[in-house]
Amino acid sequence: MKGYAMLKIGESGWIEKERPQCGPMDAICKPLAIAICTSDVHTLWEGAIGERHNMILGHECCAQVVEVGSMVKDFKPGDRVLVPAITPDWNSLEAQAGYSMHSGGMLAGWKFSNFKDGVFSEFFHVNDADGNLALLPSNISPVDACMLSDMVPTGFHGVELADVQFGDTVLVIGIGPVGLMSVAGANMRGASRIIAVGTRPNCVEAARGYGASDFISYKDGTIEDQVLALTDGKGVDKVVVAGGGCETFESAVKCLKPGGKIGNVNYLGSGTYVNIPRVEWGVGMGHKQINGGLMPGGRLRMEKLGSLVSAGKLDVHPLVSHVFEGWDHVEEALFLMRDKPKDLIKPVVKI
Ligand code: NDP
Ligand code: ZN
Repeated sequence: MKGYAMLKIGESGWIEKERPQCGPMDAICKPLAIAICTSDVHTLWEGAIGERHNMILGHECCAQVVEVGSMVKDFKPGDRVLVPAITPDWNSLEAQAGYSMHSGGMLAGWKFSNFKDGVFSEFFHVNDADGNLALLPSNISPVDACMLSDMVPTGFHGVELADVQFGDTVLVIGIGPVGLMSVAGANMRGASRIIAVGTRPNCVEAARGYGASDFISYKDGTIEDQVLALTDGKGVDKVVVAGGGCETFESAVKCLKPGGKIGNVNYLGSGTYVNIPRVEWGVGMGHKQINGGLMPGGRLRMEKLGSLVSAGKLDVHPLVSHVFEGWDHVEEALFLMRDKPKDLIKPVVKI
């Protein structure tokens, strides 16, 4: 089979590989549509997970099952499925402790294009098929379904980590596709005011559609100065971080009211430390919590998030800015994600 792979840090291309083997609890699937992620860019060009040779890229797709293992009960060849980016081992101790995304070690629930070949491939392997796949609702297109692999669960997890409550004023730092889903999630959870940070015009427009009420640009001065000006110096109840860098935490802490919470889903790609501003952290006593996490994967979450889209309560289509047809366009879509032109939110390739 052929797959589009990271050959080494900074180099990618098509390679030939053996089709993966199906274990008793596993499934082999073929993509119906794939999406490119900012994390693919971090992996390939920034060496975010270290050196990898000839590893097939990709962790966002919608697929058709072609083979299942002898112990798989709920899926069969021909089923169209949602595939989460994170596919935990559900019998691990970490999963039993409630942190399935870290099954097998920190962040090790992330297997596609990390510890094994990813989904930019004619066929790919899914561990624990009954625990990780979900049937694709018939009224969701494969293109939209790709947004359920990572963008919806990650953006929503930021909202969970920030513990957004009815009536909260929420700051969402970063309104790429992940942050847009944080805006949507905060809105669904009853935020009264959502302040969005970002500059790309179509992201700003999409954020407005998902419920953002105020907009600031990180290019127009510090985030904290602008947020404090918008909130009469009081700050916000919650912050979701879905963009920026290590320095963004200083702003996030400065924007929070005492007792506030930060939910980070952003990848921190450089620097050794995250600095916490001492005075604004209440000299250690401000009850300002900082949480950060990898998205939870698994079937239950996929089914629940899929049903939100299926029921018309969440429209993911505004995230899809570019649609290509055919494997030949994977490279073009990947390079587009790296270059992030102004009109890009998320590129998807229909297979
Ligand atoms: P994008 O690059 O599309 O969006 C980033 C956003 O952050 C944009 O709105 C951008 O603004 C904004 N931004 C850039 N620089 C700053 C800054 N200095 N201060 C404040 N905002 C800034 O990324 P994605 O939405 O695709 O992904 C967001 C992050 O989530 C990435 O780091 C990605 O790796 C991570 N991620 C995490 C996962 C998890 O499970 N935790 C899973 C998937 C992704 P502008 O409009 O100007 O571009
Ligand atoms: Zn992703």
